[in-house]
Amino acid sequence: MFSLHGIGVGGGIVIGRARRLEASERDVPRYRVCDDQVERELARLETAIEVVKAELQAIAEQLPEEGPAEARALLDVHAMILDDPALVDAARDSVREHLRNAEWAFAAQATHLAAQFDEIDDEYLRERGRDVLQVADRVTRVLSGSRTRTYTGRDEPRIFVAEDLSPADMLSLRSAVGFAIDQGGATSHTAILARGMNVPAVVGAGLASRLIADDDWLVLDGEQGVVIVAPDESVLSQYRHLQALSLREREALQKLLHVPAITKDGTSIQLCANIERPDEAVAALAGGAEGVGLFRSEFLFLNRRELPDEDEQYEAYREAVVAMQGRPVTIRTLDVGADKALARSGAQIAQNPALGRRAIRYCLSQPTMFLAQLRAILRASAHGPVRLLIPMLAHGHEIDQTLRLIGIAKVQLSERGIAFDEGMPVGGMVEIPAAALSASLFVRRLDFLSIGTNDLTQYTLAIDRADHEVASLYEPFHPSVLRLVAMTIRAARRAGKPVAVCGEMAGDWGAAHLLLGMGLREFSMHPASLLRVKREILRADVTQLAPRVARLLQAVDPLRMRAQLARLVGAP
Ligand code: PEP
Ligand code: MG
Repeated sequence: MFSLHGIGVGGGIVIGRARRLEASERDVPRYRVCDDQVERELARLETAIEVVKAELQAIAEQLPEEGPAEARALLDVHAMILDDPALVDAARDSVREHLRNAEWAFAAQATHLAAQFDEIDDEYLRERGRDVLQVADRVTRVLSGSRTRTYTGRDEPRIFVAEDLSPADMLSLRSAVGFAIDQGGATSHTAILARGMNVPAVVGAGLASRLIADDDWLVLDGEQGVVIVAPDESVLSQYRHLQALSLREREALQKLLHVPAITKDGTSIQLCANIERPDEAVAALAGGAEGVGLFRSEFLFLNRRELPDEDEQYEAYREAVVAMQGRPVTIRTLDVGADKALARSGAQIAQNPALGRRAIRYCLSQPTMFLAQLRAILRASAHGPVRLLIPMLAHGHEIDQTLRLIGIAKVQLSERGIAFDEGMPVGGMVEIPAAALSASLFVRRLDFLSIGTNDLTQYTLAIDRADHEVASLYEPFHPSVLRLVAMTIRAARRAGKPVAVCGEMAGDWGAAHLLLGMGLREFSMHPASLLRVKREILRADVTQLAPRVARLLQAVDPLRMRAQLARLVGAP
């Protein structure tokens, strides 16, 4: 037995077996198919192999005559790998016998073969292992280009262990019951998705992927950030007891489901949910959300080669709007870039993606694509209250350009005779210090603001939110971050416009009193946190909190800030 320590991102405690993910398998969709889907899966595999062979042939034909001979030889090797029965037949058998989907069967067999090459004491042959993985990557990418993906719910529940997982990887692992990941920080999108899936997760877990073997028994405590490998009986019984306690707490919280979120002094607070996929709206509603405060639309765009067109997006947005039964749905326009990269081949890797052409910067540079999204959001607004949210604002002209494009999208829809809400509110995210400092000006051109504390912390402190090496310095309660949050809330309230916090701070029950004291009346968080935060709201008295928080914001020392915050939470 031994334990590993990282950053807990919530979700409670899980006891289960490990499933290690190798790099080549990570972003591969993994699900079991039904018996009657086996032939279809085999046909998909056949087609993908043929497509890759044709791709390789096309590349070979385009090679210049005088090009390096090795390149041609390498392409030949790759083509031969696609005829190797040890790879292809074994993958077919895995589809038939283990009912794995084609991507999973092919990637897993490639990893197995590559590991065998790796053991050979000959450098040339060891390199062939890498070729196998590259070919497998091509095949699985072709396979994943298909739009429809059926999750049968028959996948084995496992705790997934990996060196790193991109948000796109996570989307293919819906059957996970836990995650232990070497890299990542508390507000990395990997951690956020784990919270959205409501499964225990530990990120920044150091050497987890190297020290944990497939099938090891694990205790994973997502609250404390601990992974215990091969626990003995006494540890197991201790954690079973903790699991029972947390279950009891959850049952107690459940009683608050229909209690309105009103503070002791009678202030009504709006609690909304963050979602990444339209079908999560159902869970949000069941969890007591009064609306969707943040629909991260970019998750419709990840993990695929063909981007969703206007109709597909419209269907997704409409699904969420209809599911929320008349409650507002805030759809954020595409926020790609940094750790949420589009899977477009040939796209240049930015030198510093978090500071690069991401989010609204990217959208404004792709007006055709952006207009399609704006039309899709507008069309969804005909089915219930929709609010449009612009991510990563830094400049006033980004607001003007987006408003102009929304105007164009409206004209285009009107010309097609398609219904939409003419008065759909348009808001902006405050997640860059420049936006917080300009909030009073930005809010004049917008209908509402939403504060993204995850990026606001990252950009204020210059700490990569996904980098576990600097995770200990990532401090959302740094006085500078809190002052920017308070400044934004004040600016919106003065202008008489709604303002929310939709970063992870909103779901941190320890921050609820602080935010209430700053004047916040709208919180948006992952649905699993709604009731815990509601409990704090029911205990709070904002008339007392406001002056205390004003004093607290004068504190200059981040260490003192934490201590004072604890006293605020403990306050009657
Ligand atoms: C944020 O930055 O706080 C936010 C809500 O956006 P995301 O986490 O998707 O970057
Ligand atoms: Mg953000």
